[in-house]
Amino acid sequence: MGNMELARYLNGEKSSIPEMFGSMVFNDSVMREKLPKDIYKELKKTIKTGAKLNTEVANAVATAMKDWAIDLGATHFTHWFQPMTGITAEKHDSFIAPIDDGKVIMEFSGKMLIQGEPDASSFPSGGLRATFEARGYTAWDPTSPAFVKEDTLCIPTAFCSYGGEVLDKKTPLLRSMQVLSTQALRILRLFGNKDAVSVSTTVGPEQEYFLVDQELFDQRPDLLLTGRTLFGAKPPKGQELEDHYFGVIKPRVKAFMADLDEELWKLGILSKTEHNEVAPAQHEMAPIFSTTNVACDQNQLTMELLKKVAARHGLACLLHEKPFAGVNGSGKHNNWSMATDLGENLLEPGKKPQENLQFLLFLSAIIRAVHIYSDLLRVSSATAGNDHRLGANEAPPAIVSVFLGDELTAILEALSAGKIHVDHGQLILDTSVAVLPPLPKDNTDRNRTSPFAFTGNKFEFRAMGSAQSISCTNMVLNTAVAEILAQFADRLEKTADFTAEVGKIIVEAYNEHRNVVFNGNSYDESWPAEAARRGLNNYRTTPEAIPHYTDPQNVALLTKHGVLTGPEIESRTAVLLENYIKVLGIEAQTMLTMAKTDILPAAAAYSETLVRTALKKKALSAAISTVYEEDTAAKISQVSECLYGNVNALEQALLESRGIEGEDLKAVVKTAKFIGEAVVEKMNLMRENADTLETLVSAEYWPYPTYSDLLFRV
Ligand code: ADP
Ligand code: MG
Repeated sequence: MGNMELARYLNGEKSSIPEMFGSMVFNDSVMREKLPKDIYKELKKTIKTGAKLNTEVANAVATAMKDWAIDLGATHFTHWFQPMTGITAEKHDSFIAPIDDGKVIMEFSGKMLIQGEPDASSFPSGGLRATFEARGYTAWDPTSPAFVKEDTLCIPTAFCSYGGEVLDKKTPLLRSMQVLSTQALRILRLFGNKDAVSVSTTVGPEQEYFLVDQELFDQRPDLLLTGRTLFGAKPPKGQELEDHYFGVIKPRVKAFMADLDEELWKLGILSKTEHNEVAPAQHEMAPIFSTTNVACDQNQLTMELLKKVAARHGLACLLHEKPFAGVNGSGKHNNWSMATDLGENLLEPGKKPQENLQFLLFLSAIIRAVHIYSDLLRVSSATAGNDHRLGANEAPPAIVSVFLGDELTAILEALSAGKIHVDHGQLILDTSVAVLPPLPKDNTDRNRTSPFAFTGNKFEFRAMGSAQSISCTNMVLNTAVAEILAQFADRLEKTADFTAEVGKIIVEAYNEHRNVVFNGNSYDESWPAEAARRGLNNYRTTPEAIPHYTDPQNVALLTKHGVLTGPEIESRTAVLLENYIKVLGIEAQTMLTMAKTDILPAAAAYSETLVRTALKKKALSAAISTVYEEDTAAKISQVSECLYGNVNALEQALLESRGIEGEDLKAVVKTAKFIGEAVVEKMNLMRENADTLETLVSAEYWPYPTYSDLLFRV
């Protein structure tokens, strides 16, 4: 975008989408335009290979970045990073630096660009900081472009302690991408690919969310404090008519989506698809995929903008995995593949048999990786919010399985039965005819219940929660697949008969791991029993799942490839469990307050009204019926008593959870497990009572907007 166009754009005059797109991003074309040629070259080298920038180059880049940002209205800069909370953090510094005469200049040096020292002490470290060093520093990640958000130049950075211990979600992701690239290239070389210099993983995250009216939102302490409704009787209409999915988008929502797209496009986010989802008031946004690291940063930005843009439209955007009981929850579909720097998608089945063989080898690696490291994938999707989806009666389940579709499964079955074998790099039918397995695209997308589904030229991991960072899931996928590729490469580099060995590996992998392949309906009642027979794990809750992070084979995987150290894995385990404990603690406290100060008083007030009415009627004449008043008042009293009992029980359980002794990880695990059972049980009982009261108490007395209000009034 040229300066003139920019001025017009900033004046609010309409500009075309191509002009607007990426206008707030310090992307390649801006770099080429603003940087001297030699500096640009050096920077590109750094972006591609990770080589260190020298001071002179860094200073030149920083100056160009600052001038560009100031032109766009920036007054501040920030190192933008992703601590283990899973959300982003920023600390704004203005560009001003004092000079003589009480004046200032706008300053931004190479050093300020490359490294920052935010006070790290308030970010969760899971005990790492106690063992190591209190301070932390941020380091520029040049592989993700800087951008201007409001009045601030944001520089994507990694976040570490002074001793080098990783304190963020970006660093391990970047490491896992490097590891995968190395191992995938080994395989590609064996297939004769001499041209590719790197392999990136690519991700397109589909983001689900709910929109509710801000005014109604503000009247619900549970939404305000926890992001979900803790009470709420089932509305007469839910999603049973299936009239919302892909339905006509309401004007208010449409205006929101248009505004959102514009904000995303300005930040260079390839927002492509917007549609209504299954539940009323539920929607989805999907971008065109990009490199995992960039996709991760952009998804964090997308979640931030969803909330900000909604507020402008008088709406509240709910990213919570289960804002409404009894209504579909929100997930994030992590579409994942691998591609060479020359653009070859390694999960594209291709037309040539030779390529099919390469494809089948990568496919086998993924199947083996997902089977062996299924617990880690489960860990990566375990949060308090997501327990309402994965652990409950909603697809996908907590059991990690792989969906391949009929065609791919048939090919692997035929190979394993010896009906197809590999010869001279071709797949040969037992009739000696070369087969070109037809792998029609879009043949595989019918199963919507599998947590990990092959969808034509990529895998879709559907177990992630809508509010989660996609970083951990992709770190796990990348590292696990890299490990298996390394195992395959070790064998293949030694073999005399390459194609025969590839065939052997594919068959062996399928025979060993066919138990993880499940093409049926994962939602079906019979699946958990069948999965148990197959030896697949089913960790229904976060406290059950997370401790497996530190299982020996998982620690071995991540440490072997230098993605995380043992202490870093332990600290992450603690952070995740502590987060679960805190979230449940806040939810429980909110429930107690709502019950004690709003719900029980409303019930008491209405039953008093009923009793008074009955007395008045009786005084007037014994012939007037008071059945409704008396029956209802009796029911309200009875349910109120139950609710009150459960309030006391929940308070008791919370007290007990706080009494669990010890500072170490074991105590954290114990506390989380206790909360997952005893505390959650009491919360569920309270909810049942309160929801019954909602159906008995006059709407006029009920203190909160109902599900019908929230779901159908946008
Ligand atoms: P669905 O049918 O599940 O709604 P779409 O076909 O719209 O999905 O695509 C979902 C996502 O998959 C999009 O973000 C798309 O960009 C992404 N995607 C497509 N190809 C790849 C790939 N090779 N790697 C990663 N993501 C991809
Ligand atoms: Mg999808």
